[in-house]
Amino acid sequence: MLSTMQDEQLSLATLLRYASTFQGDSHVSTWTGDGVRTQTYREVGEDAARLANALYGLGIRVGDRVGTFMWNNNEHMVAYIAVPAMGAVLHALNIRLFPEQLVFVANHAEDQVVIVDGSLLPMFAQYLPGMKTVRHVIVANGDASALTAPAGVTVHSYAELLAAQSDTYDFPVIDERSAAGMCYTSGTTGDPKGVVYSHRSNWLHAMQVISPNGMGFTARDNVLAIVPLFHANAWGIPYATLMSGANVLMPDRFLQPQPLLQMMADQKPTFAAAVPTIWGGVLAGLQANPQDITHLRTCVVGGSAVPPAMMRAFQDQYGVKLLHAWGMTETSPLGSVAHPPVGAEGEAEWAYRYTQGRFPAGVQARLVGEDGTIQPNDGVAWGELEVKGPWITGAYYSPSGSAVDADKFHDGWLRTGDVGKISPNGYLTLVDRSKDVIKSGGEWISSVDLENAIVGHPAVAEAAVIGIPDPKWDERPLVAIVLAEGADAKPEELRDFLADKFAKWQLPEYWTFIEEVPKTSVGKFDKKRLRAQHADGSLTVITLS
Ligand code: ADP
Repeated sequence: MLSTMQDEQLSLATLLRYASTFQGDSHVSTWTGDGVRTQTYREVGEDAARLANALYGLGIRVGDRVGTFMWNNNEHMVAYIAVPAMGAVLHALNIRLFPEQLVFVANHAEDQVVIVDGSLLPMFAQYLPGMKTVRHVIVANGDASALTAPAGVTVHSYAELLAAQSDTYDFPVIDERSAAGMCYTSGTTGDPKGVVYSHRSNWLHAMQVISPNGMGFTARDNVLAIVPLFHANAWGIPYATLMSGANVLMPDRFLQPQPLLQMMADQKPTFAAAVPTIWGGVLAGLQANPQDITHLRTCVVGGSAVPPAMMRAFQDQYGVKLLHAWGMTETSPLGSVAHPPVGAEGEAEWAYRYTQGRFPAGVQARLVGEDGTIQPNDGVAWGELEVKGPWITGAYYSPSGSAVDADKFHDGWLRTGDVGKISPNGYLTLVDRSKDVIKSGGEWISSVDLENAIVGHPAVAEAAVIGIPDPKWDERPLVAIVLAEGADAKPEELRDFLADKFAKWQLPEYWTFIEEVPKTSVGKFDKKRLRAQHADGSLTVITLS
């Protein structure tokens, strides 16, 4: 029996239409260094129509890829909605990728047009000659004439191009399963891999983001989107803010702790979203120069594990909740969010908040053990996490047809490469990435557990743990420590600090002190680089007996 329900397509154009009319007074603002420039969602709607007209005029049709090479700002928000609403495919390029990776992804995605921030032109100019499919470059917030284009590429000024267009566009009805956007993984553990989101996946994901079990934005919020729009589908923030009518505050290029704190003081956002390294910097900034940040209802944090000490410091010293979430580029990215269950209080509540969170109905999850069997969700058994659902990718993009590699997918489930456990009530605790877990004498040591514990020591600003070859145990942990400013600590003291938190055989004997932990293009610990530094002998290792 068929339902009697209408079969409206879940297209992103519906979000644009909704936000620009019934939520038309809400706005996107971009920090300028000492204030904001603001556009209402009504104006975003008009600019989106102008941009769609302009792109159509440049030959962009349904399914064509439009790249962006931009900071988080008003123009990027306009592109984020205009491009999919017209049926084209948004590809936000990660400006911090290594040059050869960046050129690779633009060619792989076959970007036809790239919208570039004026402040990024010198960097972009180096990559453009390698981008074989790009025909047009649109320069926003800068001087288009500053870019010398290779033959066959035309450069336009965003402002001039849009000024010449109509502020209405007949956005087509798009099949909800068609491509809306694409994003490449940041390559933390390998080459970047492309994921293509659909209108439907983004729509359903946005509903999850705004649900109270997700991030819970409402039309009364102002969301500071620190996470770059090019990282993991911007954590769904652009579509979730348009869907909820929440205001959104874009930091543009001002991503250091001091300007972030200044924009917080000035704009009083109620939400903010960023990876732990950003929150670590903000915390240090607050400790140096305290300020009231209780306007923040919630700070969403994910992308790598959040040290419990950091969550405690935000709560106890500044009255602000860090909300821990887990996800991947492949999962749109919201996978699980650590809202504690009813009845969990005190330390029990904290224990839930430290987890990677509870899975929503839209994400099925299971653990697969080393022997290939499905492990029980008993909060004890470990396994590789596999997930499945309407906003989870079923393949990686390839121009010659999408690829379902056996080492990445398993009977229709996405293999996440994360190792963890799941409690009977659906909370995920990640132990490690499968590539980072340390195998010592046949037993596993979680690098993340060691890192989380060591940063609880007051002398430690950052700690990254990698496995290094060991003749007796195969692998042992090496702890790389960045000391807090002006602090000092000996490896013996740090090991003693861990003694009551780990089994004796898990306590690390190899230690090194470094200036900073190498970071990936999205601010995660780059353990590939740290391993290489160890392998080429550039780390001074202290061995405890
Ligand atoms: P990349 O794989 O290149 O780092 P992503 O940003 O998509 O790009 O990373 C997804 C991965 O980040 C996850 O598979 C997981 O290993 C890690 N991750 C994300 N959120 C968390 C979290 N809350 N705790 C621990 N690890 C996390």
